[in-house]
Amino acid sequence: VFLEKYGYLHQDNHIHSTDEIQSAINFQWLSTLPITGELDGATLRQMSEPRCGVSDEGSQQIWAQRVNAIFTGKRWPQRREKWYKRQLTYQVVNWPSHLSLGSVRLAVRAAFQLWSNVSGLVFQEAPEGPADIRLAFYEGDHNDGASNAFDGPTLAHAFLPRRGEAHFDRAERWTLNGHKGHNLFMVTAHEIGHTLGLEHSPVRHALMSPYYRKLGRSLVLSWDDIVAVQQLYCQGLFDAITMQNETVLVFRGSVYWMVSAEGGVSGPLPLHQRWSDLPLAIEAAAFSPLDFKWYFFKKRMWRYTGSVLDPGFPRQNSKLGLPHHPDCAFYYAPLGHMVVFKGSRYSVLNLKTLHQEPYYPRRLTDWNGVPQGTNGALTRPDGRLFLFREQRFWRFDPIKVRVTKQGQWAKELSWT
Ligand SMILES: [Zn+2]
Ligand SMILES: [Zn+2]
Repeated sequence: VFLEKYGYLHQDNHIHSTDEIQSAINFQWLSTLPITGELDGATLRQMSEPRCGVSDEGSQQIWAQRVNAIFTGKRWPQRREKWYKRQLTYQVVNWPSHLSLGSVRLAVRAAFQLWSNVSGLVFQEAPEGPADIRLAFYEGDHNDGASNAFDGPTLAHAFLPRRGEAHFDRAERWTLNGHKGHNLFMVTAHEIGHTLGLEHSPVRHALMSPYYRKLGRSLVLSWDDIVAVQQLYCQGLFDAITMQNETVLVFRGSVYWMVSAEGGVSGPLPLHQRWSDLPLAIEAAAFSPLDFKWYFFKKRMWRYTGSVLDPGFPRQNSKLGLPHHPDCAFYYAPLGHMVVFKGSRYSVLNLKTLHQEPYYPRRLTDWNGVPQGTNGALTRPDGRLFLFREQRFWRFDPIKVRVTKQGQWAKELSWT
């Protein structure tokens, strides 16, 4: 029954022969037990250990791909479920009555912060209303369509993106600091891993190991957890990019990096240390050599002189004639104005009047060869414009007025 429940044997297929042996081998592999293919004493003991209710099926293959990617530098095609936004909300729907809501919320926040630190994802609590990820406590069979009732050794389970649900067994003894019972922080951190798209790991000390781990002296996240989440969310992705003098600034989540003309990288540096009051996960950034000011965009526009927010900012994009949530923004010397891309259109903002220039927005096809949905742009000292979308770049020549080169920026652009 255990092997069926956790995905080692298909429940609709009760053939107990070579399949069963292979299942036992898979289970032993993931449990780091000696691989014998038999249901021996150690295997049976391991089956009664407190564990996560998410099936281990498929995790062996995914892990092999992950390790292979580390050693070969190759990336496998991304078919896996993940979130396609960097800013996610979460909600604690209910909690065990013997713990205070305040302490549960602190533990949950710390658990999300663990993943945020290494993924660039940003998590915000939504105390009510809709939320991307919901955490709730249930008892026994709770009809979530996953046929995994809370009985036996199951502490909790969660769904892969983008269902955004983690369920905890209300009947378990949960604790936040005691020695008896199961540590809610550790189990929450593990289940959050699933809601972000991570499967179980065979690495014994990994947070994503299917078995319950006590909160101990060792780090909560292991190398395997960090590699797994970064392979899902950190493949050359950034929120915004710009250039000040000779230094490229790359923004992601709550941090930014600085790349010097010689290729030296410093960071990640906290965004708020340099630009306080700026929201996390900005969508576009541009340094303007016209007025030596920084411009940041989301639904509103922030303007800084150095690290000081200018009076009267942020301002609503709509009041400036700009789109909400722009793809990218850059100062464009041939026009003498700020250019903002959004979908199939672009806007031109006069930085002196802070109004959109007449006859804009216009169609993006004016920028011959530039694709939609770029997430960063910058102008090099030679005047050529580079646009980025995930791993690819496009080089736009302002004199020929078209894209003259494109490729993989990590491979072909030494200054990134
Ligand atoms: Zn799990
Ligand atoms: Zn459930």
